[in-house]
Amino acid sequence: MRQETRRCLELDRAHCWHPFTPQDDWCSTDFEPIAIARGQGVWLFDTENRRYFDGNSSIWTNIHGHAHPHITAAIQRQAETICHSSFLGYTHPLAAELAEKLTRLLPGQPMERVFFSDNGSTAIEVALKMALQYRQQTGEPERNGFIAFVNGYHGDTLGAASIGGVSRFFDRFRGPGHPLHQISSIEDLHQLPEEIVRSTAGLVIEPLIQGVNQMRPWPPGTLAELRRWSTANGIHLILDEVMTGFGRTGKMFACQHENVVPDFLCLAKGLTGGYLPLAATLTTQEIYDAFRGPAENAFYYGHSYTANPLGCAAALASLEVFESEKTLEMLQPKLATFSSRLEALGNQSPQIKEIRQVGLIAGIELHSHPTRSGKSVCQLAMKHGLSTRPILDTIVIMPPLCTTESELDFVFEALQSSLNESG
Ligand code: PLP
Repeated sequence: MRQETRRCLELDRAHCWHPFTPQDDWCSTDFEPIAIARGQGVWLFDTENRRYFDGNSSIWTNIHGHAHPHITAAIQRQAETICHSSFLGYTHPLAAELAEKLTRLLPGQPMERVFFSDNGSTAIEVALKMALQYRQQTGEPERNGFIAFVNGYHGDTLGAASIGGVSRFFDRFRGPGHPLHQISSIEDLHQLPEEIVRSTAGLVIEPLIQGVNQMRPWPPGTLAELRRWSTANGIHLILDEVMTGFGRTGKMFACQHENVVPDFLCLAKGLTGGYLPLAATLTTQEIYDAFRGPAENAFYYGHSYTANPLGCAAALASLEVFESEKTLEMLQPKLATFSSRLEALGNQSPQIKEIRQVGLIAGIELHSHPTRSGKSVCQLAMKHGLSTRPILDTIVIMPPLCTTESELDFVFEALQSSLNESG
């Protein structure tokens, strides 16, 4: 083991605390964490210079690959200019430019206002608070609850967690906040009592597919029906496109598959191509207008790094790459290959219970087994040069959008070998 690796692991074990990680597993002597040193395209390299395909796009963020020259140069240029300035009381050209570009990504510019924050959780937090304050300022303060889905995941800040439906993460943090009504399906929605519907400010969903819920797609038409129902009942539709946004599902946004325009669109992860933390909550002019008028109508919310210029530079560069590399067009044939490779993997692997796919997102669920688990198969995959993580017994495969067909071959060969060896 190189000196650099040894020092990293020693310092990490002594001082770091990792997200979503049982620390006894992390610190156990038979587990050796991998220390990532650099990335190039779809590949990650560790401090021992071993190479891994980035099979979950560095926690679902990366779009155009690592160290992309256009995005890297944009960040470098900006770093030489100014790395951060306040968005409270000031503006800057990149944020203004980016806001305008984001509003143009949905045809017809239905969402004209952009509120920047730092990550997926805060993009949701902003939408929830805006939805509540909007009601207070439009004469419906009794509408102070939310409807969200069982097993839904919208982030970990206390507000975002308050509408989260993954009980192992969120139940212990529930408090007397805003009423939450959890549903599992459209049928549940139609059966909600009238008094709940009348006291609801917003309905929140991960469109097309629930991510943390082991990649489970919704039945086709769900989103369109939610839009119809929420409009009919005067409820804001809040779409969490933190995972699905920026091409993941084959279109720029998942809501475009069902021609749905939400009242709030929450974006993060892929917004900067996976380079820097930045988030945006888009909403309509009509909602924005309710925050005009006297000072007490203002939205008193923000973060020190709101609209960070480096993040905005990365996001603008990423959108430019979408155009220059025709990312969405180039993706279409790869989606067909991805589907057929998944199908072949399923046919050749008795270990697999079900494969779920939307766009370039796949959840490969294994049969439960006394010794084989999602974790053990992912550990084998690492040995074959494929980095990915399971959610329970579901292996998540979410490659960067720039992945080529031959790189996809590599991914599926590594997966097949890992499954064969897993017994
Ligand atoms: N919403 C969805 C659908 C997500 O998948 C995630 C993160 O995985 C979040 C929100 C939270 O984003 P962040 O981890 O950037 O706070």
